[in-house]
Amino acid sequence: MDTESRQQIITLLEFCRELGHTDFYRGKNDLNDPPPSLPLAFAEETPAAQAVQEAQEPTLDMPRKSAPIYQPAIEIMPTPALLPAQKAAALLAIREDIGDCTRCPLCETRNKIVFGDGDPNAALMFVGEGPGADEDAQGLPFVGRGGQLLNNMITAMGLRRDQVYIANIVKCRPPQNRVPEPREANTCTPFLFRQIDVIRPRMLVALGATAATYLLGAKTSLSSLRGRIHDCRGSKLVVTYHPAYLLRDPRQKGEAWKDLQLAMQFLGLEAPKKDRS
Ligand code: URA
Repeated sequence: MDTESRQQIITLLEFCRELGHTDFYRGKNDLNDPPPSLPLAFAEETPAAQAVQEAQEPTLDMPRKSAPIYQPAIEIMPTPALLPAQKAAALLAIREDIGDCTRCPLCETRNKIVFGDGDPNAALMFVGEGPGADEDAQGLPFVGRGGQLLNNMITAMGLRRDQVYIANIVKCRPPQNRVPEPREANTCTPFLFRQIDVIRPRMLVALGATAATYLLGAKTSLSSLRGRIHDCRGSKLVVTYHPAYLLRDPRQKGEAWKDLQLAMQFLGLEAPKKDRS
């Protein structure tokens, strides 16, 4: 094995250890065995098979093209349920594991890590894409213009902001507010998944396509995901538009309200009556 591959494996194992995975077992097949479905005779390298393989293999000047993956490299196993009184400390422990993170390139340009905020026992959790400039400066999620709109959405659902939990797919601001790269998101989501496993909200709301993609582990159009209830780590999940999109196109607010009503119905929430006094 070359030094670079060896180093990559060591880094991955260290990351697994940070996430609490310490036991590794060799699978049923030795790495040198042919794939199980392949009859042995086909697995042997005949000149013809070798020629086909070489033709398919990328060369050094032809980088290997693979479809992006929207999940962490290792599966984050759900942790056992905690008592309500234990959740705040468990979230703090995750924050401590993150430390002064340098696991992905976003650390180079961020000011503050935006861990997440709200009630550790919330029944409803919102997940956005990543911090913007205001969030990066304050270290809190959704405190800018989009945050104001999210606050209004929460109020319309009959809740206060301190009754829900809010986090993002990435905890550091992407430069120029660009969409996080899969490598950045997949490095960061294990910590978000641990937060979800601690909080165990009954309902998650994915704000926008990036949140939906990484919470569901696959990229699908927002329109095909809206209007239905999905499953995510033992919680239910609905998908709606990102507040920043709604600020750009306020005509879609009615559609977003339909999505929130789906979540409210599931949670047994009623919109507050309009005060006519
Ligand atoms: N947009 C997001 O996706 N998250 C924030 O925290 C702020 C803006």
